[in-house]
Amino acid sequence: MSSPKTIRNLIIVLGDQLDVESSAFDGFDRAKDAVWMAEVAGESTHVWTHKARITIFLAAMRHFRDALRKKSLTVHYHELDGKSSSDSLREALIAFAAKRKIDKLVMVEPGEHRVRKEIEAAARKVKIQLEVLEDQHFLCDHETFDEYLASRKQPRLEYFYREMRRTTGILIKSGKPVGGDWNFDKENRGSFGREGPPKIPSPRSFKPDAVTRKVIKLVEQRFADHPGSLERFDWPVTRDNARAALADFIENRLPHFGEYQDAMWTGEPFLFHARISAALNLKLLNPREVIAAAEAAYEKKKAPIEAVEGFVRQILGWREYVRGIYWHFMPEYLDRNELKADQPLPPFYWTGDTDMNCLRESIGQTLEYGYAHHIQRLMVTGLFALVLGVRPREVHEWYLAVYVDAVEWVELPNTLGMSQYADGGIMASKPYAATGKYIQRMSNYCVDCRYDPAEATGEKACPFTTLYWDFLHRHQKQLGDNHRMALQLKNLERKSRDEMKTIRKRAEQIRVTLTVGETRPAPSGRRRKK
Ligand code: FAD
Ligand code: SF4
Repeated sequence: MSSPKTIRNLIIVLGDQLDVESSAFDGFDRAKDAVWMAEVAGESTHVWTHKARITIFLAAMRHFRDALRKKSLTVHYHELDGKSSSDSLREALIAFAAKRKIDKLVMVEPGEHRVRKEIEAAARKVKIQLEVLEDQHFLCDHETFDEYLASRKQPRLEYFYREMRRTTGILIKSGKPVGGDWNFDKENRGSFGREGPPKIPSPRSFKPDAVTRKVIKLVEQRFADHPGSLERFDWPVTRDNARAALADFIENRLPHFGEYQDAMWTGEPFLFHARISAALNLKLLNPREVIAAAEAAYEKKKAPIEAVEGFVRQILGWREYVRGIYWHFMPEYLDRNELKADQPLPPFYWTGDTDMNCLRESIGQTLEYGYAHHIQRLMVTGLFALVLGVRPREVHEWYLAVYVDAVEWVELPNTLGMSQYADGGIMASKPYAATGKYIQRMSNYCVDCRYDPAEATGEKACPFTTLYWDFLHRHQKQLGDNHRMALQLKNLERKSRDEMKTIRKRAEQIRVTLTVGETRPAPSGRRRKK
């Protein structure tokens, strides 16, 4: 289809808006309207992005472009090549608009505050009206979320989630929660025991096709010094891939999802997890169809209520909740640092080069696949940064860079709020602080580690355990009013003065060893001296 001379509506489609059902296409007229998509280098370098994250976005965008063109839509697509290109969406859009006559720019609300501001700035510069549409992909709109926040003194996921269940009727029968309870945490959260996980069929793998292979080549060339590997890249990059990935999860892993949700095991990066977060965040999947598929598995008695409820809670509860928090509190949220954490991120986060087995495993698989499951993110990499006292902004930039599913609206509240308590309790009612014993209980990582999770001092002391007590000591006053911390702080008081002195000395040694004289990568990808 040839492009109209004057474009009535130019539909801007971003890399995480790959949905033909999106409201941006409502009333699309092939004779008058056109689509604009752009690959720009800045989106891969504003944080030092993992090669797999760059690849999944670009490959999915190119497949989506091709699908639209197949439907005879005009798509103006700005492809990133080996060298030149605009660095930002703002520049690319201004350059494109300068050469055309466009009546109106239309887009669905972006998933990142920064990107929204960039597009708005471009629209102002070229003096074209910009219409920003609500994102229909989500089940809770901003207004409803803000009303919920206003109605609660202390917002918490649990009540938001129940409200979502009630209003949508999901897993509700005759006004009551299906299975007789709102949550099945007691049944869930198991670990594997000595014998390890049962046999799990390998998750569905999507071998890169010609389009994806071309992107892989480009990324290897253009972003050669970026972290991560592409050797195992097999993520879903089309709607068909995404649906197949969902079906595979529902059939093979959902039945045990709840039970082993928090468990970790050496050499098992995926366990019973869905591996659909990237597909959901790119909008290749709709949360409604994901929830419906899980509900159907329950109806057909293919999965127990504990697993189905546990899974639905993640999508209907957490995923919607973090999005509400993000848009309500941005842009100030980005700079929060309630605990005044001031340490740099240890360089091993970018290499996995550490003798702490749990961190080596979790970071190693992150670099290999661009994936770690929730408990690895929260209770291994996140926990270590929390007790070490790393600057939340640096922790955020790392999480945004290294996961294939990372988009700021979901990554930021999870990192800064849930895992680092930098928002002072908006996301979590208390810091997720724990000793190495938690990791020992939920995994086999400690078995082959040179450290002992029960020890806080001495040669074999587990750095998590040492830093945990040091963390409580450092924040004793600040956390003293939080009744959910009472038990932990009481245990701290039981430590003798001498023991605490030794712990604090060792904690200081850890901090010094992890940071002094090291180089660490700058977000731009260049290495800078500390
Ligand atoms: P499963 O464990 O199988 O869960 C199913 C789905 O539920 C996920 O696909 C996801 O869409 C949703 N979900 C589960 N937990 C959460 C949560 N806490 N918040 C929002 N949605 C959730 N998720 C992202 O999608 N992008 C991120 O950038 C991201 N960053 C995170 C950073 C930190 C520090 C932490 C603790 C969590 C983060 N999460 C993020 C949430 C969660 O870890 C991932 O969604 C999950 O690991 C993705 O793997 P999966 O598809 O196998 O998920
Ligand atoms: Fe991690 Fe400590 Fe266990 Fe080693 S002993 S694996 S550092 S928790």
